[in-house]
Amino acid sequence: MNNLAISVKDLHVSYYGTEAVKDVNLSVQTGNLVGIIGPNGAGKSTFLKAMLNLIPKDKGDVRIMGQTIKEVRKQIAYVPQRNDIDWDFPITVLDAVLIGTYPNLKLFHRPKKKEKEWALECLERVGMEEYSRRQIGELSGGQQQRVFLARALAQKAEMFFLDEPFVGVDAASEETIVKILKELCWQGKTVMVVHHDLSKANDYFNQLILLNKELISFGSVNEVFQTDVIERAYKGQFAFMNEMGVQS
Ligand code: ADP
Ligand code: MG
Repeated sequence: MNNLAISVKDLHVSYYGTEAVKDVNLSVQTGNLVGIIGPNGAGKSTFLKAMLNLIPKDKGDVRIMGQTIKEVRKQIAYVPQRNDIDWDFPITVLDAVLIGTYPNLKLFHRPKKKEKEWALECLERVGMEEYSRRQIGELSGGQQQRVFLARALAQKAEMFFLDEPFVGVDAASEETIVKILKELCWQGKTVMVVHHDLSKANDYFNQLILLNKELISFGSVNEVFQTDVIERAYKGQFAFMNEMGVQS
């Protein structure tokens, strides 16, 4: 069995001629919970979107489980950054989760009882089953993020990509989300999470990608979470690194 989940070769992305992501090469084995960290504007979201073919790349080759994104699209669940989502869009919680079942529905089939039951099960897993009839716009940030995780679960994907899932989220929701992400990895899924905040990165992830336009460091949390390595990316922005658990 091939255990390679993600391989990225020579990835370059720019906006209007300015490079946002430069020369990223890495590969991730199946079953890892990978944090993508780096300061604001480091290109974390750009990296994620370019990997998933959601924005054009200048060059680079990305394989997911040895295949192109197009070939494995159904196996990929993506939860965008909160401010990339239109929360005024009139849709109930249940319908938002049901969208997750679409990739697995046959062409022209609408979700039926079976899909609805599955969507409710996913809502239960994130502790949101009582909110199924609410409009997504009425929920708190943490509740919205849990619903989007339920939608990703409903998709029964192999790979999960989340962009800043903890921003604007209460502590209890954050804990629920982290617990589920860890469970997914134990089940052999691969999870990548953009996380701009260094605090807790060592509790949450087992591997880290440290990005600042270029790949500064990639490896186990212990390898990446070293003062000199972090400083190279954050360039002295953090005077409190010791308090955050970065090893010197
Ligand atoms: P991060 O997610 O690490 O905060 P981004 O990937 O959002 O960083 O952005 C990386 C860089 O690219 C930033 O300088 C940002 O201003 C720029 N950028 C991001 N999206 C766009 C866009 N749609 N058009 C032009 N520039 C962009
Ligand atoms: Mg971002």
